[in-house]
Amino acid sequence: MATTEEKCAPWSSLLLDAPTRAEIWARLAAAIEDYIARVPEACVTPELKPAELHRRLARFDFQAPLDALEAVDWIIDGLWRYQVHTPHPRYFGLFNPAPVSMGIAADTLVAAFNPQLAAWSHSPLAAEIEAHVVRAVAVKLGYPAETADGTFASGGMEANHTALLCALQNAFPAFAETGARGLERPPVLYVSSQTHHSIARAARLCGLGASSARTVAVDDDLRMRAEDLSAQVRRDREAGFAPFLVVATAGTTNAGIIDPLDEIADAAQSERLWFHVDAAWGGAAAIVPEMRHLLAGIERSDSLILDAHKWLSAPMGAGIFLTRKPDILRRTFGVSTAYMPRDAAGLDITDPHTHSMQWSRRFTGLKVFLALAVAGWDGYAAAIRHQTAMGNLLREELRAAGRQIVNRTELPVVCFAGKGDPEEIVRRVVTSGAAWISTTRLRDQTVIRACITNYRTQPEDIRALVEAVSAANERK
Ligand SMILES: *Cc1c(COP(=O)(O)O)cnc(C)c1O
Repeated sequence: MATTEEKCAPWSSLLLDAPTRAEIWARLAAAIEDYIARVPEACVTPELKPAELHRRLARFDFQAPLDALEAVDWIIDGLWRYQVHTPHPRYFGLFNPAPVSMGIAADTLVAAFNPQLAAWSHSPLAAEIEAHVVRAVAVKLGYPAETADGTFASGGMEANHTALLCALQNAFPAFAETGARGLERPPVLYVSSQTHHSIARAARLCGLGASSARTVAVDDDLRMRAEDLSAQVRRDREAGFAPFLVVATAGTTNAGIIDPLDEIADAAQSERLWFHVDAAWGGAAAIVPEMRHLLAGIERSDSLILDAHKWLSAPMGAGIFLTRKPDILRRTFGVSTAYMPRDAAGLDITDPHTHSMQWSRRFTGLKVFLALAVAGWDGYAAAIRHQTAMGNLLREELRAAGRQIVNRTELPVVCFAGKGDPEEIVRRVVTSGAAWISTTRLRDQTVIRACITNYRTQPEDIRALVEAVSAANERK
């Protein structure tokens, strides 16, 4: 029974009464389990009908109150109908995984307890859990435990933005104070044509402008050419620019290519550049002992990013920025104001806000911590190994169906061509709802891209994809 306070208080429509809340939680738990159990049977893609969505929303004028249970049912039904089901085993898209169950549990708890990750003293356990996970992941990727530092971020975009800011701060100690306009020579950084667009966007956000990102040539396998990097740095120096950073990628978005990290590390060292590795997706290969060699050299980087919401299958978003330079985050982000909590003064702790561009911050690290605690590194290694095997199977099946694989990688991103117009094939497969795949451009050629993003994808899903592609090709 609802108490009088619950029924009559001015906040009663916010808190709701205990029996209603109990029913909401029960329906949520049932809906989550139902989604996990039945999503493999769903159509992967929704129909795209903006007018229908606007009609559905028209009833919400926020004047007449809606029954809470009706609202919950409305959104559960809507989420089933109107989204690409990225947790579907036949979603072969950008790196959007099926979220791990402990990650779903963690995000739910975080919403309820709502820990504040700005000041350490407000959420000491949460802050220490994040620092613990950051260190564990850093060590897995080869950074020394004593100096490794890092922070959770909203995603790879923010983590790469953090890397640019740290590299600027490192190269130009006055940057925090004067900004880019205080620098004598224009800073430039180095990427390849395959680098994720978040780097050029971060250059814009840092006030450098996208043109400060210089494109280094790639070889036939789309890997950055380290010799070209050194030559271009020297030319830029002579022309009056201030080279400060090179960004290598470990697992490109297009084609899963890993740049020659050791060679780029050598070039960065001799040219005195900050060496950043964008390992948003591919970095997780470090968890699998027999795949670790693919990332050789990553441990020599000054910073790297890894998105736990990619190959660690955390719910979105869970970016991780790591650096081997212990003081750089504080120098880049540290500020102090009168209203900041002082409860932890004198304790040997790190306030999370001194490491992040965020102030109020969600407890992002819990979903990674709980998932790792339950699965262990071995549980993750098994899942990553399985997805890699599914990528190999897809390559075999496509070749058997007469198609050419046009990217060379051991990671499970498969780009292929041959037989028919790629755009038309992808359009037919996606609108059929049988699977989600996409096109991209490699070496001026439009190709089909399929990535194994889901630990639940099985051989029958791979065969269904190849059949859907063949069927799309044959249909007139
Ligand atoms: C996904 C990705 C990013 C961007 O990360 P978000 O979390 O989507 O912001 C950056 N770089 C690479 C290589 C990626 O795969």
